[in-house]
Amino acid sequence: MASCASCNKMILFGGVEEQGLRFCNARCLREGQVALAARQMSSYDRTRLVQSVYRGPCPRCKETGSIDLHQSHFVQSFILITRWGTNELICCRRCALKRQGGDVLQSFLLGWWGIPFGILMTPIQLLRNGYAMLFPPNTTEPSEAFQRVVVERFLRQAIENQAQPTATGGRRWNE
Ligand SMILES: [Zn+2]
Ligand SMILES: [Zn+2]
Repeated sequence: MASCASCNKMILFGGVEEQGLRFCNARCLREGQVALAARQMSSYDRTRLVQSVYRGPCPRCKETGSIDLHQSHFVQSFILITRWGTNELICCRRCALKRQGGDVLQSFLLGWWGIPFGILMTPIQLLRNGYAMLFPPNTTEPSEAFQRVVVERFLRQAIENQAQPTATGGRRWNE
């Protein structure tokens, strides 16, 4: 039985095939391409990209400041359905606090109303967010996690742009 080269799930039928690898859908194919491109990226390009984001303006508020990878934890419930997770944010401390504060408020208001996970996860997510707000990543240079997220986002964007068909039919007329 074939399994997806990106998420490892079994592919019962259908799926996408590329370069001898099978993927469940276009999304997994793209994630696979991102992982492959990240492995092939030279350390020079990688460092240059990471440093430009690290030293650059905040992608959210455009102000220059200490850019880092912040985490914001959330939980939302609706009776039997509870959804929780963590957003990875590349931004300055001030933007991170704004988002974390928003998630604390939202989780506090909307997290509890699910049985049983809402009741279990809400205090956990609130504590995790409190911790993330009080103790931001304290790095003098880009952390491994920061580098991974920056590179992945950059490649995902590049691959998505490549996949967009151009309105004029590509470069045919210029060649
Ligand atoms: Zn998959
Ligand atoms: Zn900012």
